[in-house]
Amino acid sequence: MNSTCRACGEEEEDVEHLLVGCPAHVAARAGFWGHCPTLEEVFSGPAEHVINFLRRVGRVQVATDPPPPAAP
Ligand SMILES: [Zn+2]
Repeated sequence: MNSTCRACGEEEEDVEHLLVGCPAHVAARAGFWGHCPTLEEVFSGPAEHVINFLRRVGRVQVATDPPPPAAP
């Protein structure tokens, strides 16, 4: 089942598209990571950035498996 991204309407919506690919979320993304991050940067960074980003773009219900908090 394909679901076209409701934010940009151009590509299939999946986690990678949402986090690093969607042109509609460039501003929100830059607010958390300061630039357009790669998927590796997103998942190696603070998990709270991912969670807060998903909340910001209104897609917190997307089934993601965020990385655990960084070890102390
Ligand atoms: Zn999109």
